[in-house]
Amino acid sequence: MNSFMPRIEIALSQIQDNARMLSELYEQKGISLMGVSKAVLGEPSIVEAMIQGGVQYIADSRIENIIKMKNAGISTQFVLLRTALSQAEFVVKHSDISLNTEIETLKKLSCYAKAQKKIHQVIVMVELGDLREGVLPCDLPQFIRETLSLSHIKVVGIGCNLACYGGIKPDSENMNELSELVNVIEKEFQINLEIISGGNSANYGWSQSTQNAGRINNLRLGESIFLGCETVNRKAIPGLHTRAFQLVAEVIESKKKPSLPYGEICQDAFGNVPGFQDRGIRQRAIIALGRQDIHLSSLESNDKSEVLGASSDHIILDSENHNLQVGDEVRFNLNYRGLLAAMTSPFVRKQFVNCNHHAVV
Ligand SMILES: *Cc1c(COP(=O)(O)O)cnc(C)c1O
Repeated sequence: MNSFMPRIEIALSQIQDNARMLSELYEQKGISLMGVSKAVLGEPSIVEAMIQGGVQYIADSRIENIIKMKNAGISTQFVLLRTALSQAEFVVKHSDISLNTEIETLKKLSCYAKAQKKIHQVIVMVELGDLREGVLPCDLPQFIRETLSLSHIKVVGIGCNLACYGGIKPDSENMNELSELVNVIEKEFQINLEIISGGNSANYGWSQSTQNAGRINNLRLGESIFLGCETVNRKAIPGLHTRAFQLVAEVIESKKKPSLPYGEICQDAFGNVPGFQDRGIRQRAIIALGRQDIHLSSLESNDKSEVLGASSDHIILDSENHNLQVGDEVRFNLNYRGLLAAMTSPFVRKQFVNCNHHAVV
């Protein structure tokens, strides 16, 4: 079969397996899942695989991705992870639930919800140390009070997000704090918070070590479902597929060359003055893929060819131990950053591979 390159091969059945195994695993702890679709830009077949696997919501940080999924006919509860004031009208129109931390934004959402004759549901995010989004715990009661006064907003839950900006690990301490806050808020306002969303793929270790998840009954998972790992140590989760996405690129030059550039050294394509180690004459391959498509640290060559460097459109490999020929395919495993970049590059074809059945979009 003559396949397009570069391409990202996507094993939908493996993604569905991962979603199913994680749904079952977390269900034992009383935790439901939101499948986070932003890394795959809301690609409908991938999202469908997550839903078939048992996730109860689909969450994305970009409203455009949610609109794309809805237009593709995906039917589920859509959660917007990042809410911008200027998009309030679309947020109300296209998402069922949005995550929020600013009262000005909530007022706008309420306004548009009224205009659209809807009640918009929100999860209020609480700051627990990672210092990305979140209302400070000391400000939470007042924030909830103001939010409850908005006529077309319903507070359905609270949540937090760790291990993203500050690299703060979810542990029993911060998770208990979230549970405590739920109790305080429910008591003070005589409301029932249905969704307590304790975090993301970094919450795996905490969830496995705890006997009791407290009030936490939801997690938002992207990386665990796609790449089969947790994100505190980036260890594989037992039983999950870790190679559901493969990046395949084409060899366009294969030659023996010196490992040391010759001539006068100046800046490279990105303004750096490069340094090189002399390893003598080596067999090298160039693949038709570059920094416009991917970051080098995201690539893990499956045959262990060493990535030497790259410019916008060329990646140089040391292929001394591999007999790569012009036209050959080179296969890479991707980390999350690589997945994000490859899915976003318009030059990388998305190809679904499923039990001998290939489909290209
Ligand atoms: C991206 C994101 C997630 C998913 O994170 P993973 O590490 O991929 O599981 C969860 N919550 C929020 C708010 C996010 O922005």
